[in-house]
Amino acid sequence: MTKILKFLKNLETATLDTLLPKHCLSCDQEGTFLCQNCLKKIKLNSFQICPICQKFLTEFGETCRYCKILKPPIDSLTIATNYKDPIISKSIHLFKYKFVTELTDPLTKILIKTYQKNKLLIPDFIIPVPLHPLRLRWRGFNQAELLAKNLAKNLLPGFPIKVDNRVLTRIKFTSTQVKLKNAKNRQQNLKKAFQVNLKFLEKIKNKRILLVDDVSTTGSTLMECGKELRKLKPKSIHCLVIAKQK
Ligand SMILES: [Zn+2]
Ligand SMILES: [Zn+2]
Repeated sequence: MTKILKFLKNLETATLDTLLPKHCLSCDQEGTFLCQNCLKKIKLNSFQICPICQKFLTEFGETCRYCKILKPPIDSLTIATNYKDPIISKSIHLFKYKFVTELTDPLTKILIKTYQKNKLLIPDFIIPVPLHPLRLRWRGFNQAELLAKNLAKNLLPGFPIKVDNRVLTRIKFTSTQVKLKNAKNRQQNLKKAFQVNLKFLEKIKNKRILLVDDVSTTGSTLMECGKELRKLKPKSIHCLVIAKQK
C-alpha cells in the first residue's frame, strides 16, 4: 500500500473509532464489535425449508421434490440464523448502515458454522449478490462481497475457493427491497435488474455455484440472480444468507 493510502486507511479507522467506540454490541465488552462469547451464543437455524414453496422442510434448504420438477432458478437456500435474534439484527444493521466492516469476520464465522452444521458441499465458485454501482458508491463496499470473499478464503483453510464479483452485475437501480412489502412488487421491481458476464461461461459451466448475500427477504433477489446465472450453465446454484429479514 502506498503511504498516502495507508494514511487514509488509518484516518478512516481512527474516525470510525471516535464515532463508534468499540464495544460488543451485545454485552458491551470493550475492544470488539462482537465478542467471542456473544458470537458463540448465536443459535443456528435447526431446520431449513424449500425456498420456492416455503412450505416443506428439506435437509439443507434444497428445493422440495414438487418444486424441483418446475426447474426453479436456484437449487437451494440455506439460512444461517434468525433475524429476530437481537445480536444478528444489530450486527447486520451496524455492518450495512454504520459501515462497521470489522463485522465481516464474525459474520463469516456464522456462515462457515452453517456450512459445517448442514454438511453442505464445498462450492467451486462463490459469487456475491451485486450492488448497483450507485449504491456501492454510497456505501463504499458491497457487504455481500466482503462476506463472499472472506468465506472463499476461510471455508477450507489453505484451499481458497474462487470468488469473482464480475460474474454478475446489477444494472438496474431499484428502491430498497425492504420498503416494498408485497412480493409481487418486489419481483416486478427486480425484473432485468441483473446481468451475467458471458465471458465467464467456460469458468462457470458445470460448476457448483454458491451465491452469497447478507440477508434475504422474500427470496426474489436470489431468484432473479439465479435466473441470470443459469445462462452460464452451472451444474447447480446454491444460496447462503445470514438471516431472513421480514
Ligand atoms: Zn459480547
Ligand atoms: Zn417446494
